[in-house]
Order: sequence, then structure tokens, then C-alpha cells
Amino acid sequence: MRTVSTEPVSTETLSTQTVSTQLESYVAGRWFRGTDDGEPVLDAVTGQEVTRVSSHGLDFAALVAHARDVGGPAVRQLTFHERATLLKELALHLGGFKDDFYALSLRTGATRRDSMVDVDGGIGTLFSFASKGKRELPDDTVVLDGALEPLGRGGTFVGQHLYTSRPGVAVQINAFNFPVWGMLEKLAPAFLAGLPSIVKPGSQTAYVTEAVVRRIIASGILPEGSLQLVCGSAGTLLDELGEQDAVAFTGSAHTAAILREHPAVLHRGVRLGVEADSLNCSILGPDVTVEDPEFDLFVKGVVTEMTVKAGQKCTAIRRVIVPEPLADAVVEAISARLDRITVGDPADERVRMGALASLGQRDEVRKAIEALRTSADIVYGDPAHVDVVGADAERGAFLSPVLLRARPGAAEPHEVEPFGPVATVLTFGTVEEAVDLAARGHGSLVASLATHDPQVARDVARGLAPWHGRLLILDRDDAAESTGHGSPLPMLVHGGPGRAGGGEELGGVRAVLHHMQRTAIQGSPDMLTAVTGRWTTGSRRLLDGVHPFRKSLAELRVGDTIETATRTVTLDDINHFAEFTGDTFYAHTDPEAAAANPFFGGIVAHGYLVVSLAAGLFVDPDPGPVLANFGVDSLRFLTPVKVDDTIRVSLTVKQITPRTSADYGEVRWDATVTNQDDALVATYDVLTLVAKTAHRTDH
Ligand code: NDP
Repeated sequence: MRTVSTEPVSTETLSTQTVSTQLESYVAGRWFRGTDDGEPVLDAVTGQEVTRVSSHGLDFAALVAHARDVGGPAVRQLTFHERATLLKELALHLGGFKDDFYALSLRTGATRRDSMVDVDGGIGTLFSFASKGKRELPDDTVVLDGALEPLGRGGTFVGQHLYTSRPGVAVQINAFNFPVWGMLEKLAPAFLAGLPSIVKPGSQTAYVTEAVVRRIIASGILPEGSLQLVCGSAGTLLDELGEQDAVAFTGSAHTAAILREHPAVLHRGVRLGVEADSLNCSILGPDVTVEDPEFDLFVKGVVTEMTVKAGQKCTAIRRVIVPEPLADAVVEAISARLDRITVGDPADERVRMGALASLGQRDEVRKAIEALRTSADIVYGDPAHVDVVGADAERGAFLSPVLLRARPGAAEPHEVEPFGPVATVLTFGTVEEAVDLAARGHGSLVASLATHDPQVARDVARGLAPWHGRLLILDRDDAAESTGHGSPLPMLVHGGPGRAGGGEELGGVRAVLHHMQRTAIQGSPDMLTAVTGRWTTGSRRLLDGVHPFRKSLAELRVGDTIETATRTVTLDDINHFAEFTGDTFYAHTDPEAAAANPFFGGIVAHGYLVVSLAAGLFVDPDPGPVLANFGVDSLRFLTPVKVDDTIRVSLTVKQITPRTSADYGEVRWDATVTNQDDALVATYDVLTLVAKTAHRTDH
């Protein structure tokens, strides 16, 4: 196990590099500076040049080859648990530099609250994937998917789905709005999946990403080649990609369309995931009145989404869909809250909303507002003017929050994405109309619904779900703990259909499996045991005369088996168990009622009696390497045990998982209980903890 210091590297050295006159890319194990003067990147607040960015002269072939030949093999030789451990170390390490990242983010126009979404959100995502990787993936390099599929009557031909890591490269092209989270939320699942990442941040804010990557590289936590960085144009990067590679893109629909048509995607099987524009909506339930807490929650949610990151969030609320009779009240309440939003220099503590990322972005948003005005009227804010605290309103990319109200039949609010602090109020009569309006966005990342009526929640959620990747139902019961409309969470899927790009990210282990190849393996049970490393039903059982409970983890082999003696289950046994436990269900105690039962036709043994008797048959009682039984999985009772039936058990080691941080590991056993006719009575997995060496329990 590699140990890595989480001591901060000298801030001085790194911070002078992070605000260097030209950003550098990290390519094939060294920092690379573009060979021309690059494009200037301006401070969103002051308009001054922060740095320059260029990838001119970058050797894209060497970049991809390094990922493929050095990074990929280094990651793939680690198990999921080892990769997860490194992600956790990385999260802890980066946590030590948060203030540096916040300070740098100020120049992108982000307030401290905005930066927390980006920086803390990114680090939190690393923690979350580290934890998911440890708890939900095996300490292995492959993942089994689903149950064994019997493919022939004799049990000699079976099928099993298996996920393996691709020997490819994960290219991650990110938008400017989340320079930290955008990188880490893609990097974490790709790393867990065994892929090296090539990160290409949005140029406008790439200096924040570069600073984080410098910290990561300097820490030495991730294996060399598993993370490389391209600052500046993506150049010929995609030309280098092939069928084992993937591109995950976040940004505009325009760029997404260019990427979709790239020959690497069209002809060479490169997988492309897209997360693009999204006209997310928030719906106020028809059950809500202005006095209800849901009304305030709704208004607060809209204002938060309009103003956090100055509305530059792919998940921000663009369409505010409300019952017609409440439209005036909603506009009034949103306006009153917007009045309290101070715009200006994000470093100023009074400021609630900073600048847009660039003057160019402000121009784009102003154009979008003009387009919206074709069918909507501004009811709050002035796109041409805003009072600014602590900065120059023209040199910085400041914009007032702008609320519009759509005229009947408006089309533009469903088509135009103002990527800034802008939302449009639309009205509906019936729940069906609300769902139809939401669907006119052509597919979105997220929608929220404020309602306290379960029927409204059911109708709206089922209507909206096909059009969205995530739905938030907000009411008085979940408000205090709600993470809000705009926050993608590592454990829930992020991505939406249609216009939103059709991609899917995050969602816990789903995001890891997305990066892997699922293959259906067909063969004999013995072959599947060999391929998967997990004992497969029907494959050879190993009987060497030593009870497997006498073997330590080091001595146990997959397939080790104990075939037990038999035991006849008497009426006395059943009566005793019924009285002793209090489970006097009629099938075990009332012969007449039991005879009428269509499944039993007479007295039968309790299922739990069978499982208990089975344990009595297979357990080796003396102290030994087996430390504890921590559960059973997949317990099924298949044939009832009648009075005087005789049972026996076959217990086989199915899977051995050493725990990296303990001197014991988990052993999963296949338990099969049969009767005197060899019919299956019960099947289940027994889960035990077993000492790694016999030594531990000798004393
Ligand atoms: P872009 O689509 O222009 O850029 C996104 C990323 O793609 C950037 O890293 C960009 O690099 C890169 N890129 C641009 N062209 C290419 C290309 N031909 N090949 C490979 N990579 C390319 O979006 P922006 O971030 O500039 O934002 C523009 C608009 O996109 C916003 O105004 C907004 O409407 C929308 N947007 C939507 C988001 C969402 O998640 N829904 C998020 C962010 C933006 P570079 O920066 O160097 O050009």
C-alpha cells in the first residue's frame, strides 16, 4: 500500500505557478507551455488579464499514448478498493488547499458560496465515490452483473454478465462554469473504472482547474499518466481516439453537435456522453396557496437558482411554471427576494451575486434576453443596467437578475437558454398543461415541483420523468434537509434526455459501470468459476477432508466444501421450535388448517428451523479462524420440509474478499439444503468473517 503525505506543498511555489503568465498543460509526465502567445483570459470582475491559454504545439499523439500505455495499466493493476482508497486520499489532500482555490475562483466572478458549490462539491464527490467504491464494488478488478443464467437443462452450460475495464482513455471536455467540480465529478468514476483521464477544461476558467491539477500531480497520489491536462484548444485530440476510448462532454449544444459528427465518434466507435443546454423548470403545484410553506420554498428555490453562480449552471431554473391565478403573487414574491440580492465584487462580503464568467458571456445572455422578449415581458431587472458594489459595472461582467413573464402561447422560453441570472414565468390551468409545458423544453436535466399533495406529486412526477434526469419534490417535510433543485449529487444520476444531451453521469456505481465493458460469458460452470474468480453453481466442489471452518483466509480456496451429515426433522422438533420461538403459525401447529394450505398439504417445518438445523449441521464448533457470521443473502425456501423428512447441507466457499485494513476478510459461502430425494429445500449465501492467518485465533 502506497502511503502519501497530505502535507500541503509550499503554497508559494505553486501559487506563483498557478497565476503564471501562461497556463500549462500536463502531458506525458511533464508540464507543457503552448508554443505561441496564446489567448488572453480576463478577470470576470476587473477585466484585467489573468493569464493566457494555448495548447499550440502540444503533442496530442504522445498525450493519448501516455494515457494508454502508462496511466491505464497503472490504474488497472489496482483493485476497486485500492482505487477508492486513493480517491479518498486525494479528497483529503485537496481539502487542505480549499482557500487557495476559493481565492483563485474570485477572479471567475464566483462568490464564496459559488466556490463552495464548485470546490467543496468537487471534493465531496471524490469522497462519495471513494466510499461507494469501497462499499459497493468488490476488492477485485472485475464486476459481476446480475445472476447466473442457466442455459441448458443439465446445468453444464451457463451464462454470466461481467464488467471489465477498457484499455482506453477517458477524455473529459468541461464547461467553464464548474472548473473544479466539473473535472472531479468525471475523473472519480473514470478512475474507479480503471481509465486514465485527459481533462480539457473550459478555457475561460482553466486557471482554477490548472491549480487543482498541479496540487494533484505534486501530491503523487494518483499513478502517473492517470490524469493529464490540456489547457487551450482540444486541437487534434479526438483524432487520436479509437474504439476503447470515451469522451464525456459538458457545454453547449453547438459544440456537442460538432463532436457528434467527429469521424472518431461516427466511424471509430468512440463513446460520446453529452451534457448540454437544458431549460430546466420548477412547477408550483395547483394545491399550493400563498399561505402554504411550499409557496415560500418554491420562491426561494427559484431565486437561489437564478443567482447562485449568477445563473451559470446547467441545472438552473429557466422556466418558472405556476398556476395562472398565482402568477402575480409569484412574480411579486420573487421580485421582493431579488431586491435583496447585492451584485458586485464577489470578494466583498456584502455581495450575494458575482459576475458572469466573461464580457462575452454577458453579451450572449443579453442576446438571449432579447430573444425571450419576443414572447415575454421583463417584470424584474434591467439587462442594460445594474448597481454594483465594489467593482466597475462595465469592466466586470455584471448583469442584473432578470425575471420575465411569458405571454400566452410563448415559444421562446422553451427554446432559448439564457446562461445567466434569468428566468421566465409561464402559467398553466391543469396539471396536464403543466406537464405539457415542461415537456416543451425537449428534455431537461432536472425539474422541481413544490407540492404537499401526494396525488399532484404522483401525476406530475410520472408525467415529467420521461423528460428529465432528476426530479425534486419539495415540501414542508423535506425542505430542511433538501439539497435543492440545482445540486447534482454523486449518488444520483445527472444528465437528461433530448436537448439536455441524452447523457448520464454520476449515480454512484452506475457511473463507474458506464465506463466499463459488459460482456456475456458463456461456458461450463468450472470455466465461469475460473473467469470470474467466484464459485459458480454447478462447478467442481473441493473436498479434502479438512473442515473449511478450520482454514484461515490464506488457506481457503474458492470451491472448498463441506458435505454434512443428515438430520431427520421430527414433529417434536417442529413443536419445540414453535413453542420456543412463539412462531405458532398454523402451517406448523394445526394439522387440519395446514392440510388445507395449497402449498403445504400438512404440517411443515419452519423455514428458520431448517436454516438453524442447517447451521447445526455445517458449523465446526471449536474456536478457529471463523470469527463471525454477519448475514445471509438471497435466502429462498424451495421445497417444504415435512415431518420426518431428512435434510443435509452442502456449504461451499463462493468468494474470498480480504479486507485491506483488517487482519480478517469476508467469505461468502454457497449453502444448499436438500432432502432425502435430493430436492432443493433452501438455497442462500452465508456471509462470514474469517481471520487472514490461523495464528490470530490460536491464542
Ligand atoms: P462550449 O460548448 O463552447 O465549450 C465547452 C467545452 O468544449 C470547453 O472546454 C470548450 O473549450 C470545448 N470546445 C469548444 N469547441 C470544441 C471543439 N470543437 N472540440 C472540442 N472541444 C471544444 O460551451 P461554453 O462552456 O463556452 O459555454 C457556451 C454556452 O454553452 C453557454 O453560454 C451555455 O449556453 C452553454 N453551457 C451549457 C452548460 C450545461 O451544462 N448545460 C454548461 C456550460 C455552458 P474552450 O473553452 O477552450 O473553447
